[in-house]
Amino acid sequence: MFKHLIIFIYLLISASSLLQANAHIFVYHRFGDARHPSTNTSLSELRKEFNYFKKHGYKIVKLETIVNALKAKQEIPDNWIALTIDDNFKSFYRKGLPIFKEFGYPFTIFLYLKATQEKYKDYTSFAQLREIAKYGTFEYHSYSHGHMANMSDKQIRADFDKGLAIFKKELGTKPKYFVYPYGEYNKRLERITKEYGFEAVFNQNMGAVSKGTDIYDIDRCALVGKPKLKTYLNFDELHNVEILEPKHYPTNGVLTRVRAKVDKNAKKAYLYIRGHGWRGVKVKNGIIDYKTSKKIRGKRMKIGIQVGTKLKVKVFMGE
Ligand SMILES: [Zn+2]
Repeated sequence: MFKHLIIFIYLLISASSLLQANAHIFVYHRFGDARHPSTNTSLSELRKEFNYFKKHGYKIVKLETIVNALKAKQEIPDNWIALTIDDNFKSFYRKGLPIFKEFGYPFTIFLYLKATQEKYKDYTSFAQLREIAKYGTFEYHSYSHGHMANMSDKQIRADFDKGLAIFKKELGTKPKYFVYPYGEYNKRLERITKEYGFEAVFNQNMGAVSKGTDIYDIDRCALVGKPKLKTYLNFDELHNVEILEPKHYPTNGVLTRVRAKVDKNAKKAYLYIRGHGWRGVKVKNGIIDYKTSKKIRGKRMKIGIQVGTKLKVKVFMGE
């Protein structure tokens, strides 16, 4: 009897750890370009990360592999990683690509088309993109890289129409995935994005991907500046954390309360408010209720809740 109980508990634990398998998607921007420290990854850092993946048994898969597994509602293996690059900077073509090629790692670049179309100095040309296409895939990041959450419906559609036509003309395909410029989005932008038939949409919130992740709101961690790679790799998708309050960006720009539902056994959690950093908060019967008075600077309010290695981040956009 006792032995059966042990086996039962063992099965229960292994089943729950299987349910919590989490893949990770990372986002890079510039490579070996020290002029822009907040969006740059030095080449020594990139090599260090790639060697870490290799040494610790991580499998670098195509982004499509993760999306297709999500669509098929399959378990997502813990050792899967997908690498994405936002904005078609020339520094990837010149400095990043040789290292990706050396390791044989697949990648997906989300294109900001106006920059290439109008030959902005720091961006790759269409000829260079066609060369890069031998090693990786391209997806969509907008035409103008504007703050789309603040555009009118008409402006949003005009941006999509223009950018998608250029994409088709220059690269011969229709993109399947989309990334919001600056990671900024709201319900309205989400709805219009879906009308364009994207199969998956990615944000820039820290987090992970597992069975049940919303395919139109997939988290990616940025590996820029001095990233905490090991912390990010430990993040689990927190399906059971729910931010109850706030629901919207505060109309007067002052955040007064954060309420969230977390694991009912948790005693302590950490709360992050953009511009105000992290703080420890108490959890009572699975509820965090934090009262405060925090002025939110800018139109982007980011709130994160961490319990153990589990993290949930949400961004609220002001109008
Ligand atoms: Zn971007």
